[in-house]
Amino acid sequence: MTDPLHGKAALVTGGSRGIGAAIAQRLAADGADVAITYARSPEAAQQVLAAIKAKGVRGEGIAADAADAAAMTALVPRVVERLGRLDILVNNAGIFFTGPLEQASDDEFRRMIDVNVRAVFLAGRGAARVMGPGGRIINVGSIAGERAPFPGLGLYSMSKFAVAGLTQAWARDLAPKQITVNCIQPGPIATDMNPADGPFADAQRQMVPLGRLGKPTEIAAIVAMLARPEASFITGATLNVDGGMLA
Ligand code: NAD
Repeated sequence: MTDPLHGKAALVTGGSRGIGAAIAQRLAADGADVAITYARSPEAAQQVLAAIKAKGVRGEGIAADAADAAAMTALVPRVVERLGRLDILVNNAGIFFTGPLEQASDDEFRRMIDVNVRAVFLAGRGAARVMGPGGRIINVGSIAGERAPFPGLGLYSMSKFAVAGLTQAWARDLAPKQITVNCIQPGPIATDMNPADGPFADAQRQMVPLGRLGKPTEIAAIVAMLARPEASFITGATLNVDGGMLA
């Protein structure tokens, strides 16, 4: 099947780099028009948009800080204004940090909730208001939304458990509209957030049965699969894409 997403419009939050950039380019390669958000890196976003447009589809970049509730509330209407519709929402933008519980600050707690949870809620609510039958909401969680495999993960794990919870609840809420909602839970993936030569990389390789970090394109491929019309009977699922780490 060529161009399985032809005629669809997608929104990928945090699409200027890492997993989000790979997802945005993959959805474009499958024929969707794609809007991406970015917070601080218009140049990186422009590069991703050029790659999207090179696939022969429309690409739109929208500056929207995921920590800004007003920007996230306005986001889906802005996408509909620019692309005419919204069929696929990928909640990808996220932050990661670890630290001992005793030193975790109130500000860190708030920031983790604002970016990793509230932004997902606001974009998801916006999408639910405009998506028609066949709509897809795909949340990028983490294996830390199922287990806390090493110390210091409290705030991040909390946020990704919340993403998994929203996914299950929304799958029920939106089923009557024939909109599916699923959560992809990556294991360690080589990105700026988790560099392949970073301080934790070797320890992670040892925790992954396949013996390596994943690639952003390996997450993007599963997002693309869930976005296709033929994935219409998968909803409320969490898919671990983790090289077997949680097996
Ligand atoms: P990354 O840091 O390379 O990219 C994160 C993206 O989110 C960037 O595009 C960034 O601009 C965006 N972002 C962050 N804060 C933002 C804000 N306030 N407003 C708007 N955009 C913002 O990270 P990544 O590895 O590509 O992570 C993407 C998603 O995958 C995240 O939700 C992350 O939690 C999840 N994840 C990553 C890994 C991993 O090992 N890399 C593992 C599990 C889950």
